Amino acid sequence: MPLSPTELDALREALETLIEELATALVRTTESARPVELDQPAIGRVSRIDAIAQQKMTEANRRAQQSRHQLARAALHRFDEDEYGDCMACGDEIGFARLSARPESLYCIGCQQARERT
Ligand SMILES: [Zn+2]
Repeated sequence: MPLSPTELDALREALETLIEELATALVRTTESARPVELDQPAIGRVSRIDAIAQQKMTEANRRAQQSRHQLARAALHRFDEDEYGDCMACGDEIGFARLSARPESLYCIGCQQARERT
């Protein structure tokens, strides 16, 4: 079933909110993603290891947020093309349930799983 205008409005709003939230989160993590100053004599060995582990986690998190941000913006662009909600691979409808959970989805569940396997 194609998305109704009400559903499309709700998804567009969710997508715009998501983009804003991710943009804010990305700005906030810029500071903490900076490399640890390893030659600082004040930092002990253990806290240095902690700091590096922490930094790796922050970086991984940030990369995930960045790619989600890109996806979300690509999805928002598809509203302008009037193609939002259609799978980019097979053209089928992605479906409201999946889009409600992840409004940035560009692929239907089948194509998404196929892509993750390769
Ligand atoms: Zn598909």
